[in-house]
Amino acid sequence: MKYIIETYGCQMNVADSELVSSLLISAGHSPVTDIDDAQVIVFNTCSVRDHAEQRVLGRIANEKHRKTADPGIKIGVIGCMAQRMGKRLMEIESGIDFVVGVDQYQHLPSILADDEPCGADTLSMDKTQVYQGIMPHRQDAHCGFVTVMRGCDNFCSYCIVPYVRGRERSRPINDIYNEVKSASEAGLRDITLLGQNVNSYQYDGYHFPDLLRKLNDIESLWRLRFVTSHPKDLSDELISAMAECSKVCEHIHLPLQAGDDQVLKNMNRSYNVDHYLGLIDKLRTAIPNIAITTDLMVGFPGESEAQFENTLRVMESIRFDYAFCFKYSEREGTKAASYKDQVPEDERLRRLQAMIELQRQITFDKFQEQIGKTVEVYVEDFSRKSQDMVSGKTRDFKIAVLSGGSDKIGGLSLAKVVDATAGTLICD
Ligand code: SF4
Repeated sequence: MKYIIETYGCQMNVADSELVSSLLISAGHSPVTDIDDAQVIVFNTCSVRDHAEQRVLGRIANEKHRKTADPGIKIGVIGCMAQRMGKRLMEIESGIDFVVGVDQYQHLPSILADDEPCGADTLSMDKTQVYQGIMPHRQDAHCGFVTVMRGCDNFCSYCIVPYVRGRERSRPINDIYNEVKSASEAGLRDITLLGQNVNSYQYDGYHFPDLLRKLNDIESLWRLRFVTSHPKDLSDELISAMAECSKVCEHIHLPLQAGDDQVLKNMNRSYNVDHYLGLIDKLRTAIPNIAITTDLMVGFPGESEAQFENTLRVMESIRFDYAFCFKYSEREGTKAASYKDQVPEDERLRRLQAMIELQRQITFDKFQEQIGKTVEVYVEDFSRKSQDMVSGKTRDFKIAVLSGGSDKIGGLSLAKVVDATAGTLICD
């Protein structure tokens, strides 16, 4: 059958879609890029915010009309929303044929062959599942994700992930080494290691710094990144490994969430503002040109105006290169959803807009500060605006465009930054 996967949410889901694609191709199915050609439509979903779930339900409602013309078309839901709601989803939305949980993707071929109904087996959680031995069907020719651990043990009070993704488990270090080696030999020179809590990786006595040092020795690999890190697992040893490994890029995504100690405590984030600021100092001392990006949340239950302003002050003090800003979204089943002092929706929105505006200015200034510098760009494609320009990423994860043609694509170019917008470095 011809299939298409629509992916929502984080990079873990992007990587999982590549895994599912590999399973389907091995079973004889073929991917298509136009939904009009698909006989199977799979939605790989996110549950982190209510908005993400509503969007998927809207998409399914829009697509189910296809079954009138061709009753053989199948629509399936996988990912976090499938895990969270299970077969209840099929009652809410009549167009859905199958629902498969995050640890049970190996069942998909037999479900499509009508050999197996979806039920308890295809929705159960498996605390050992790491999809060992499955090589993802990658979408990108130059950059790739390699999942190194799955699940999360942190139970931040607002987060649904530990409930839908299960407990932390890490892949064997040699499996990861082999996958990174073969992907980079195939041309994916810029690899991002993925995990819900990537820096808590541990397998058979090896920890995350050991993994970075081992992968740094792979000759065909040019750049190594990782996401998402938890501040509590950012050890001195990890900072040293980042500084010493030449392939580890000068960028870290380190979610702060809030710049107020009481809010952080209520979120169960297990660090305070001083600890976080200390980590930033250590990172900038060890790796002077490091870019730091973050996640921030406004309107967490009980967040006062003064506490919100504390977060703005911390943003001004750290000056993140970029921040993903969100307003708190209640998730059924999490501890924070039961808190009584929910911040009204219009107030959450007001705080979010103020936060985005502050970060937009900081990001713009950060990009302006790059003008005059020479940067290394891994060129991935033609620029969307001109066929005489190519685009790629710098080591510190900024998009850059520079003059050139197809001969530059897939290679490293040194280029001087001559101008910048709030999202792109313009190089000569
Ligand atoms: S660290 Fe916290 S926010 Fe991140 S996935 Fe785990 S519980 Fe969710």
